Amino acid sequence: MKVFPISVKESSLIQHNKEINMEYIMRALKISLILVVIALQGMGELMAQDGVIKVTLLGTGTPQLNPARMSYSTLIEAGDEVLMFDAGRAAMLQAKKSGANLKKLNKLFLTHLHSDHVIGIPDVWLTGFLAPAFRATPFQLWGPAGVKNLAAGLRQAYDFDVGIRIKQYGGKRAEGMEFDATQIHDGYVYESNGVKVTAFEVHHTGPNSAYGYKIEYNGRSVVLSGDTTYDENVIKYAKGVDLLVHQVGYAPEEALAKNQVVARIMSHHTQPKQVAKIFTVTQPKLAVFSHIVVFTEKGPDLSSDGEEKMMEVVRQTYDGPVVLGQDLMAFEVGDTVTQLQ
Ligand SMILES: [Zn+2]
Repeated sequence: MKVFPISVKESSLIQHNKEINMEYIMRALKISLILVVIALQGMGELMAQDGVIKVTLLGTGTPQLNPARMSYSTLIEAGDEVLMFDAGRAAMLQAKKSGANLKKLNKLFLTHLHSDHVIGIPDVWLTGFLAPAFRATPFQLWGPAGVKNLAAGLRQAYDFDVGIRIKQYGGKRAEGMEFDATQIHDGYVYESNGVKVTAFEVHHTGPNSAYGYKIEYNGRSVVLSGDTTYDENVIKYAKGVDLLVHQVGYAPEEALAKNQVVARIMSHHTQPKQVAKIFTVTQPKLAVFSHIVVFTEKGPDLSSDGEEKMMEVVRQTYDGPVVLGQDLMAFEVGDTVTQLQ
């Protein structure tokens, strides 16, 4: 126990001790600083590992009722962003199955307005207002000309439900029942939390009606072709991309010759040989097929036989990595592109 005041001798001893203590403190500080630097470097590496784009194929099919392939929808998760591209049949249910954070799912980008790309919108929009998402801000929607009409029409069609919810919840929370629709054009669409979305026009149903998307985050990139015929614009945006998700339409030569309807349908899509050329020119780290349209001369071919034949045609002229997409297949785009499931 120390009693104050203290003697001179004691005082000089304390001064000496103080110097020793300062030395210890400085040494401890240096060590702490080194540890903090090491820890920050570690975190930097961790953050770099976190800075990946996860791509989940929610639906890989067409308008055809095929329990094995829901109609087209793709989910992109990057950092804080959860972005859906097209909302085909069962898109919301597939998003739930994928394990994505549905609380963050309030942004939908449409490639075009064919029914198989928009039929799932009411579920994503309306269910997103309820548990577990509890969206309290307008549902954001981007798409080609007609997207505002689509949003207004859906809002009107579901007016009964929307009216009840607004009455129940009122105030700011009720805003979650509304749409915030924006018409896209070739070029910049959206940027937030380091995630950038660019649209590029493609040929499918006429001018200004169909788009592909490029998604960039942390130096990584993904391109979704959307529905399109062979299009140089896809090549322009997909050159050197990490992951290229491309649609494909395939019917055997005799089906194209014998059935005009099949030939017409195929004229709106990219043929396997053409996709092989796109992959060869763009050289993605990984190419994946989604929105797989296969016909025989009798009509839609929902068996896997046609798909395998389609892949054979692609492989005749493209020997790079290519995957036939399946519903809920997921990919991680980091330094490399990994198929997760
Ligand atoms: Zn279409």
